[in-house]
Amino acid sequence: MSKTKLGTAWTDFGWQAIHFDVPKGWELGAVSGDFNAGYFRLDDEDMVRLEVKWEKSKGKLTIGKVVEKHLDEVSKEARKQGIRWSSKRNLKLAKLDGFDYEIFSFRGGVSTIGLVARCHTCERALFIRIFHRAGEPIRNVARRTFETLRCHAKDGKTHWHFYDFEFDIPEPLRLDKHSLKTGRLELLFKKKQTEMELVRISLASVVLGQKDLGTWFTDFYDKKLQGYRLKQRKGKVRGHGCLVYEGEPLFARRIRTLFSGRHKLYACTWRCDKSDKLYIFRTTSRSHEQEKLNRFVETINCH
Ligand SMILES: [Zn+2]
Ligand SMILES: [Zn+2]
Repeated sequence: MSKTKLGTAWTDFGWQAIHFDVPKGWELGAVSGDFNAGYFRLDDEDMVRLEVKWEKSKGKLTIGKVVEKHLDEVSKEARKQGIRWSSKRNLKLAKLDGFDYEIFSFRGGVSTIGLVARCHTCERALFIRIFHRAGEPIRNVARRTFETLRCHAKDGKTHWHFYDFEFDIPEPLRLDKHSLKTGRLELLFKKKQTEMELVRISLASVVLGQKDLGTWFTDFYDKKLQGYRLKQRKGKVRGHGCLVYEGEPLFARRIRTLFSGRHKLYACTWRCDKSDKLYIFRTTSRSHEQEKLNRFVETINCH
């Protein structure tokens, strides 16, 4: 496959409510932390392309000081290695609304265009660096990425998009646990007792083998279905037939959860034949929340 020229094909990326456009082929390489403080990195086939660090900024964050400190560190390192370097500050490369920010660049060893920004809405401070090679149209790439940056919910939801897995999550729910294995992505979002879980399994045809979807699902999800009286029905999601499970807590479970109220289970599973993947969407919530939450199954862009 011939490589497309950088900046000609685009997609978007979203993790922990940090969302922007990125060149196609830049994909999640590492991730850590949570909403309040964390890190992720995007790589292409050859190199690190973009990294983001974020944290809630306590009190006053002096953007200029952060940039200065960073440039001090990287230039010191370059000097140590005998590499010629140069840096620029306060670049008028992109215009961002809703942030205090500074854009800078550094050349020497690694070449980067960086952004330090503090969001007025979620009050997180973001430190973003885009890595590039000589001759790449990096200014245009950085402009688009920075200008499309958003770092909090819009219309009551946050947009997630990585490894071609794309969906929205209601704003109050936060990522509680995740596991990103090859062929198997699992994410659990939570707010108190309310849960939303998304699972994507690759190579559906191999995983299912001779099993039908319902048998596979109840085997796979076994533990999570315990304690509920389940009703199964057929449904539709994104043009696929799906199986819907609705669960009332059994008596023993009701005792256990007496003080947290009665939470019902809803699960929907389907096989997307176009992408050859299996999906599970599950919520556990109080009855009055269910309808609103369960509508989010439709945001999963399975093909
Ligand atoms: Zn924000
Ligand atoms: Zn599909």
